[in-house]
Amino acid sequence: MLPKTEIPNTPVHTTPPPLIQVNGTHVEMGRQIGEACRQQVQHSIANAHVLIDSAYDQLELTWEGAQIQSRKYLPFAEERYPQYADEMRGIAEGANVAFDEVVTLNVMEAVTTDALHLTRCTSFAVNEQRTADGHVLAAHNEDWIPEDEDDVYVVSAKPQDEPPFLAMTYGGLLPNVGFNAFGIAQLIDSVYPSDSRIGIPRLVVARAVLAARRVSSAIGRAWVHHRAAGYNHMLIHESGELYSIEVSALRSEILHGTDGYLVHTNHYLAPTMKEVESDPEELISSRVRYFRANRLLRQSQTHSIKSLQAIQKDHVNFSNSICNHAVEWTDPLDREKTINAMVIDLTAREMHICWGNPCQNAYHTYHLDA
Ligand SMILES: [Zn+2]
Repeated sequence: MLPKTEIPNTPVHTTPPPLIQVNGTHVEMGRQIGEACRQQVQHSIANAHVLIDSAYDQLELTWEGAQIQSRKYLPFAEERYPQYADEMRGIAEGANVAFDEVVTLNVMEAVTTDALHLTRCTSFAVNEQRTADGHVLAAHNEDWIPEDEDDVYVVSAKPQDEPPFLAMTYGGLLPNVGFNAFGIAQLIDSVYPSDSRIGIPRLVVARAVLAARRVSSAIGRAWVHHRAAGYNHMLIHESGELYSIEVSALRSEILHGTDGYLVHTNHYLAPTMKEVESDPEELISSRVRYFRANRLLRQSQTHSIKSLQAIQKDHVNFSNSICNHAVEWTDPLDREKTINAMVIDLTAREMHICWGNPCQNAYHTYHLDA
């Protein structure tokens, strides 16, 4: 492992990530997020714009072109989940930016046709069989472009018509990684399906899953009809049930954590899903992180918040490690790092979140009061 001070491009944050408390209708919640995080939303749009411009040679896409493409996805979101289109509308109004730009952020993976090989996240969970205090714990490292690290915040929401939730997000993205008051946590890992199409954007699908009241409805929402593509949705229930729902545009599979733990990174695990994985040879570091996290989890019979946090700081296969660093500034489409890491204690309804790389930054605790 490199000495701490020698890791380049690894900011140290002296404050916890901002906590934004919102309530009401979806457009009202969006507006409250947009107003409180105007700077973060505007900054993330500027970052996305720069990213698209700098990748013009590969994508042949301008920022205006990206917005035109994004608009094609909107009717599918509006038809199935108008409330989340409203949330995006509210974010745009509150942050004083164009609605199209917020939509573009939320459809970014689709309009870049996944050439943007980012969000190489690592997720894992342990249930009451595997923790010293019998709590159910879920851990996630969020890997994304370094510039958006400044735009990270936590949303504590009390929607008028849906379960309260606590979630992490950044810039103008709909919150989707977190847990709700019905004891369901969701962790998202990007996967790379070859059957993508125009449909309901992945982030809108994931936002809907976070609002589910039962595990079965969370699964049903993950594989909603007319979806554009798919993520891996790791679903953790307070009962200790652990699922990975692997999704593409046309297929899906359910994996169940039978030994008290579950790991997922950015490649499909189910044989039928592997058939629709594009460029599996580009996902080698995802496999390395997957096996590494599995082994580290197996090494101890009983885990705790601290032992999961230790795994989140792991540097094997640096810099494409679980604690991911952007040490080389090379291809704009490949630059990514861990911008936050969280351990959710679903039993205690708490999120312990670290802003930036967990090897360099402290965790802060947020509680969901529902
Ligand atoms: Zn690190």
